[in-house]
Formats: sequence, structure tokens, C-alpha cells
Amino acid sequence: MSTLWPAGPRRVLVVGIDGVRLDLLPDLRTPHLDAVAAAGFLAPVEVDDVTPTMSGPCWATIVTGVGPAKHGVYGNHLGGNRLDVFPDFTTRLAAAHRRRTFAAGGWEPLFLARDGGPLFAAPGRLAYIAPLEDTPEAWEVCDERVTAEAEYVLGRSDDDPQASFVYLGAVDETAHFRGCGADYRRAVETADARLGRLLAALRARPTHRDEQWTVIVVTDHGHVDAGGHGGRSTLERTAWIAASGPGITPGAPPPGPLHHTDVAAHVYAALEIVPDPHWTLDGRPFPTVAPAEPAEPAAEPVPAS
Ligand SMILES: [Zn+2]
Repeated sequence: MSTLWPAGPRRVLVVGIDGVRLDLLPDLRTPHLDAVAAAGFLAPVEVDDVTPTMSGPCWATIVTGVGPAKHGVYGNHLGGNRLDVFPDFTTRLAAAHRRRTFAAGGWEPLFLARDGGPLFAAPGRLAYIAPLEDTPEAWEVCDERVTAEAEYVLGRSDDDPQASFVYLGAVDETAHFRGCGADYRRAVETADARLGRLLAALRARPTHRDEQWTVIVVTDHGHVDAGGHGGRSTLERTAWIAASGPGITPGAPPPGPLHHTDVAAHVYAALEIVPDPHWTLDGRPFPTVAPAEPAEPAAEPVPAS
């Protein structure tokens, strides 16, 4: 396969919502996440044995497509990482494929040269918006501003990022401060409303009719009931991915287990980019995605010969 794929109509939005427990979702009002799941799937992801259930390593795995043995992020201090060799998808696509990319959020090590970061080294456009203090309320304000910025960028057809990552952190912050009770549940529903605004921004694009969007919503880890993560309990290790887009069959759960490394692999596949073997991605595109060939099934079984 030596085809150089044109930019074409494909676009990808990845929304990362930190620390959303899978087991609580059925009880919460999350119509926009439900809509993504109905148009594709929502499936659990288990944080594997070599990955601490912490934001730093989990997000690094999600956006690079390789595990900690390669990206070298083992905690919320990202120092000692090998992200120069295993970059996030917004950086790789901008550098190697001349694609417009965008990353936005408020957690410092993802976006700034702080705590060993940034994870997002060089997207085409970057929006870091600091929470004014380390409280759930300040993080809600931060996520609100991040969402507004992302609505603005995603809604325009002139900036036109082909691959974007938007990070929402208030849910995780709320769990750490107050546990997984009423405030936490409300924070998840608020994050879902923000997801809805991002999806509406895509639909409002003047060129939306000519575009093919893949939407991936993903969380990094869970929380114990009292709030907190980093251990090996099922609640902490259980994350999830929801996705819809070209090649993803609505309502069909992936036939096998998903991994966090699959997110970046799917971003490349969704943009019809064949990964260079030297990238040594650990993930694979979501198994329901059709290959970059016509999706017509063979009319007849191929006879054995
Ligand atoms: Zn986290």
C-alpha cells in the first residue's frame, strides 16, 4: 500500500472526559453520549496490568496509540517520557501529514511544559485554558471555556481541523473532592451537555454535508465510590470508549475487547492514513471499521482451491 491519501472529507473529533464511571452511566441523563453510542457503540475498556489507573499514562496511551513501555508515561508527572518518538495523533498528523489539528483543555501536563508535559506537543492549533483554582467549581468554568473555544474552532470551515482532541476535566475533579455522589453525577451530565454542544458545532459547519465525521468519546479510568483512582480495583480499571462514524455499524458492539491504544489507531484509520510500521502502534482500529476499500461484501463465498 503506497497510496498517499488525500485529505478528503474525513474528519475526527475525540472528546476525552476524565474519570467517568461506566457503571453509573445507565442511571444518568447523557443523551448526547447515548446518541453517539446509538450511531455506533459504547464499550468497556480495561486499563491493562502495566498501566497505572492514572490520568497521565492513560491519556498518553489513548492519544499515542502505544502503551507505557513505549511512551514512558507512568504517572501524572510526565517526565522521562518518549513522546518525541511516540507523539500524540494531533502532533503526528500535523508534522508528518500536513493535516490541520487541534487540541484543547485545561489540565497542565497535557498542554504545557509543566510536570514533564506537554502530551500534545505541537498540534496545528492549541487552546490551553487554566482553571483559576483547583476546585470542582473552577474546573466547571474551565471546561465551559474549553467547550466554547472548541465550538468556535470546530464550527468554522476556514480553520477546519481534521483531527481534534477536546479534554474535559471537571468530572474527575468533582470525584476527587466529593466522591461519586450527586455532585459527581451532575458533573457527568454537564459534561454530556458540553459534548452535545461540540456535536452541534460539527453539524452547523457550512461544509458539514460534504464531510464524514468520526466522533470518539473516551474516558481514562474510573473511580472508587469515595473518589480516587490509581489502584487495581475493577471500578478504577474500567474505562470505556464510544464511537460513531464511517465504517462503524450502528448498534453493533465490537466483537472483541477494546483497548485505549485503539483510539489513536482508529483516528488514523478514520482519516484513511495507513500507519507506518515504524510507528509500532500497539492499538488497532475499532474492529467494526471497514477497510479503506468498498464495503460491498462478496456476492458468493470464495471457493476453496
Ligand atoms: Zn484521569
